[in-house]
Amino acid sequence: MRVDIIGGGPGGLLTAVLLRRLGVADDVRVFERHEADTTYGWGVVFPEGALDQLAKAAPDIHAAVVAAGTTWTHVDVRHQGFRRRVNGNRFHGIARATLLGILQRAAAEAGARLTFGHAVESLDAHEGADLIVGADGVRSVVREAHRDRFLPEVKESEFVYAWFGTERVFDDFTYVFRDTPWGIFRAYVYPSGQPWSSLIVHASPEAWEKSGLSGMDEAASARLCEQIFAQDLEGAPILSKGSPWMRFPHLSCATWHHDNIVLIGDAAHTAHWSIGSGTRLAVEDAIVLAGELATRQDTLTGALARFEEVRRPQVRKFQTAARRSERYFEKMPRYLNFEPDQFAYQLTARSWKITHSDIARRDPEFIARYDGWFHSRAAGTPVEVAPSPAFAPLRVGPLVLPNRIVSLTGARGAGLSLVTASDLHNLPAAPDGGNPAGLRVPVLDGPEEYSGLAERALAAGYAMVVMDLGHDTEAGLTALKGLRGHWPADRPVAVALPAPRATDDAGEALDAAELVELAGRLATAGSDALLVDGVPLADALRNEARITVLVDAASRSRDDVDTVVAAGWADACVLHPMAPKLVERESGVLEQED
Ligand SMILES: Cc1cc2nc3c(=O)[nH]c(=O)nc-3n(C[C@H](O)[C@H](O)[C@H](O)COP(=O)(O)OP(=O)(O)OC[C@H]3O[C@@H](n4cnc5c(N)ncnc54)[C@H](O)[C@@H]3O)c2cc1C
Repeated sequence: MRVDIIGGGPGGLLTAVLLRRLGVADDVRVFERHEADTTYGWGVVFPEGALDQLAKAAPDIHAAVVAAGTTWTHVDVRHQGFRRRVNGNRFHGIARATLLGILQRAAAEAGARLTFGHAVESLDAHEGADLIVGADGVRSVVREAHRDRFLPEVKESEFVYAWFGTERVFDDFTYVFRDTPWGIFRAYVYPSGQPWSSLIVHASPEAWEKSGLSGMDEAASARLCEQIFAQDLEGAPILSKGSPWMRFPHLSCATWHHDNIVLIGDAAHTAHWSIGSGTRLAVEDAIVLAGELATRQDTLTGALARFEEVRRPQVRKFQTAARRSERYFEKMPRYLNFEPDQFAYQLTARSWKITHSDIARRDPEFIARYDGWFHSRAAGTPVEVAPSPAFAPLRVGPLVLPNRIVSLTGARGAGLSLVTASDLHNLPAAPDGGNPAGLRVPVLDGPEEYSGLAERALAAGYAMVVMDLGHDTEAGLTALKGLRGHWPADRPVAVALPAPRATDDAGEALDAAELVELAGRLATAGSDALLVDGVPLADALRNEARITVLVDAASRSRDDVDTVVAAGWADACVLHPMAPKLVERESGVLEQED
């Protein structure tokens, strides 16, 4: 079998190594447009676990990568004069050029033929190959030659970034946020086992324009960024080599294979660099592709189809997490008022792949301090032993809920039991669980509905009413004012917003800005809190409209609730009806049943 691999990045080179080692192809050729010792970018980071598949598929390469890079276990966050360290986050960093050198040697030793300085412009010269692997990165010539089959979709980020180096050697991953007269500039700095660190500068289009960076060449850009981050770089210079300002291309394709052509790595899909996963995905693509070709040597199409079937869901997971992470950095001005620990916590949890219990395992001291701070702030008094954030009290207008768990099934121990009224004239009695109960009512039509309702809800024992707003906002506002006029001032009213009609690929409502404005009007009209669907909308409303938000995000565990409330995305969570029950332990602490 003859395999032509276009592109000698991590994906293409590892494919060459494995195809030869597994005996899949006797002739493997790699075509790389750069010379062997030239590449773009600086260093890449592998979070814990990212190299596990490589360790199994090619232990020698894994060992060489580990030996040639550097490993660290903490992340630093610098923002507005504070510095916070979160421990237990294991990362491995390596220079991209070093990684490629290791892979080039392994490919050559395995018997692959490598041609450098050869830019493939068309696939004509490769027609004789049994398999063509498009490993030629995000601007793939292979993909574009069959655009009509692969159907690529590219969405560019609005934010811009430039990938620099710096002579200051950092000892861990450091996130820096610098407030400037032009806006906030973000820098992500990490070591690579070299006498330099990688430095990615990230900015909103407005800050980029206002600062003048948009009109500067690379050298001038580097000088201005040196000034912006002078304190963090301790005066060390910024290094540039082909570090233009770019907008990240979010790429996905309808299919990754067609006839005898397959796309891998960045040629097939991208995931924003802020979770450091693109190289990992390319490496894992190579491993699965080679493995499928080795086990299904009889049918090429079957092997390619199976490769895509295995990899697509994995890649999708990372793309979603990466999009959330990117969104976090874009929206971080929302969180400027967060306390330092909460700011660092939220940054750590930003992609939703790391939960409260994960952070607690990684850095028990940080979480003990954090839980204490969270609980003390919520209780308004210092607390010596704090349960996790889900069990911190929450003030909703005039009412204090004992914890942040909202139950739809009347679970004893929930901070709020929420009961939906199907008949406004015949209300169910509030659950007798000892904790406050809220009554959720549909869109109210007029005075005859809300005046009597308030009386009946009080008589039935409810401490709070949650009113559906419906799609007619003005009618909803009128009903809210009417209800507020009849409902006692010492009991809260909350408004449930309809589920967002459309969301973007990070799950945020497309009309989030309008909803933030609406939240302000609802608060003025007497709403003490909002009940919304989904964490992205809850986050936007809580942190932009600054209103108390209860979120229905299908939380299934205490850990889910802990993470959402601790990260400040919402104030309380509706527990999924199928979630395990809450039980009170002998110590008095509430837990979920196993
Ligand atoms: C700022 C930034 C930071 C990043 N940080 C990380 C990180 O920390 N961790 C991580 O895992 N990932 C990171 N990534 C992502 C990572 O760089 C890519 O996802 C990864 O390199 C993809 O590997 P690949 O082999 O698919 O493609 P590439 O590495 O892009 O390799 C493609 C190769 O094909 C060659 N080529 C292109 N066209 C042709 C042609 N026509 N003919 C011949 N050769 C061609 C190119 O020269 C290149 O060598 C980062 C990306 C960016 C932009």
